[in-house]
Amino acid sequence: MTQKDHGELPEKRELGDQTEKTQAEEEPCHGRECSAAKSWPASLIFAGAVAGALGLLTFAPGRGGPAHWAWLAFTSGIALLISRTGRVSRWRAVFFVVLACGFMLKFKAGLLGITGSAFLAEDIQEVPYCHIALSSSILNTVYSQYLALKSGSWGAWGPLSLGGALWLVFTLALGTGWCSWVCWYGGIDDGCSRVLGRFRLRRLVLPPRLRDLPLAVLLFFAAVSMMSLKPEFCLWACPLKLTTGFLDPADAVRKAQLAVFATLAFLTLVAGPLVLGKRVFCGLVCPFGAWQSFFGRLNPFRVTVRRAACTRCGACQVCCPTFSIERDQASFPKVLAYCNRCGECVDACPTGAITYTVLDRLPSRLPPTPRLAAELLEARTLFLFCALVLGGAVGGLFVPDALRSAFSALLELG
Ligand code: SF4
Ligand code: SF4
Repeated sequence: MTQKDHGELPEKRELGDQTEKTQAEEEPCHGRECSAAKSWPASLIFAGAVAGALGLLTFAPGRGGPAHWAWLAFTSGIALLISRTGRVSRWRAVFFVVLACGFMLKFKAGLLGITGSAFLAEDIQEVPYCHIALSSSILNTVYSQYLALKSGSWGAWGPLSLGGALWLVFTLALGTGWCSWVCWYGGIDDGCSRVLGRFRLRRLVLPPRLRDLPLAVLLFFAAVSMMSLKPEFCLWACPLKLTTGFLDPADAVRKAQLAVFATLAFLTLVAGPLVLGKRVFCGLVCPFGAWQSFFGRLNPFRVTVRRAACTRCGACQVCCPTFSIERDQASFPKVLAYCNRCGECVDACPTGAITYTVLDRLPSRLPPTPRLAAELLEARTLFLFCALVLGGAVGGLFVPDALRSAFSALLELG
C-alpha cells in the first residue's frame, strides 16, 4: 500500500490472473447487508440521536425560533432517509446543496447590505476567515501566530488558534469527510455536477498523477504567499470569490484578478461539473482538499473495498465525483486518500463491495452483537452520525438566517 492510498485490503495477494484465497474471502460477505437500508427502529434511533446532538450543539440562549427548528427537522429528516433507504450520497447531496445555498444566501444578503453589491465588492479588502484561504497561506498563518504569541496579543493569536482547535475536532471526527458534508462551498460544484443527470459524461478517468494537482496548488500558493506575505490564492485564484467579494483597489489589478477567478469559476465550478458530472474544483484544484487528504489520516473512518465481493466492474471509479478511485494492475479499485467519504461509490457498487469502515476493519470482523446494536454501532452509522451532526451544526450558523432572509423577502414581495 502506498502512502497515497488506503481502502484496499492488504491481505489479498495477486497470483497472475488467479488470486490466493484469503481470510477475507472465506468469510461470508456482509458488504451489502451492512451498508443497505436499516430497520425502522434503528433508523428512528439514529435520526433521534442526530436531532438530539444537533439540538445540544446549536440551541443556545437567545437563539432558536422556527428557522432553527426547521433546520434541525431537515437534518434529522435527512438522517432518517439515509438510514432507512440505505442511499447515502443521494440524500447527502440534498443536505450539502441546501447548506451551500444557505451560506450563499446569507453571505450575499450581508454583502448587499454592506456594499450595495452582492457580487463584486472592491470596498471590502479583508481576507475572509475561510479554511481554503488559511490552508493556501498556511506559512503566513503560522508566522503571524508566532509573532502574535511573542507579543502576547490574545486579540491576534486567539481567533486563529480557536479556529485551529475547531479544525482539529472536525478532522478527528470526519477527516476528508469535511469536503462532502460540511464545506459550505463544496455544495456548489456538487450541485452543478448533478444538474444534467444521466446526460453527464461521467466516464472521465484521469491519468494518476493529475489527481495530485491540488497538492501542487497548495505547495505553490503556500510558498508564493509566504514570499509576498499575502494570501495569493485568495487574492488571485479562488473561484469561490464570486461567492464572497474582495478585489484589489487598483483598477488594472482588479480587472486581472476578476478575469482569472471568473474564468476558473466558470470552468471548475459550473461548466466542468455540468458536463463531466464530477466535482472539478474539489477534485482538481482546492488546496484545502489536498491539505485535508493529508491530515484526514488522523480520522479513523475509511471507505474500504472488499475484494472478495468485487467483480471489478468499475462502476465505483466511474461514479466517484472527486477522481478518488484508481484501479490496480488487476483492475481492483483502489480508494485514494483524497476520498471525501461522499458515499457515491457505496451507493453505486452493485455487490456492496464498498463500505465505510473503521481503519479498514470490515464489518464481518466485528464481534457478534444483537441486530439493532449492530446496525447502530457499525462504522457507517457512526461516521454518518458525526457527519450529519457536525454538518448540521455548521449549517446552523447560517441556514436559519438565510431562511429568515428569504422569508422576509417573500413577505416584502407579497
Ligand atoms: S463498483 Fe464494481 S469495481 Fe467497484 S467495488 Fe463494486 S464491484 Fe468492485
Ligand atoms: S471514493 Fe467513494 S466515497 Fe470517496 S469520494 Fe469517491 S465516490 Fe465518494
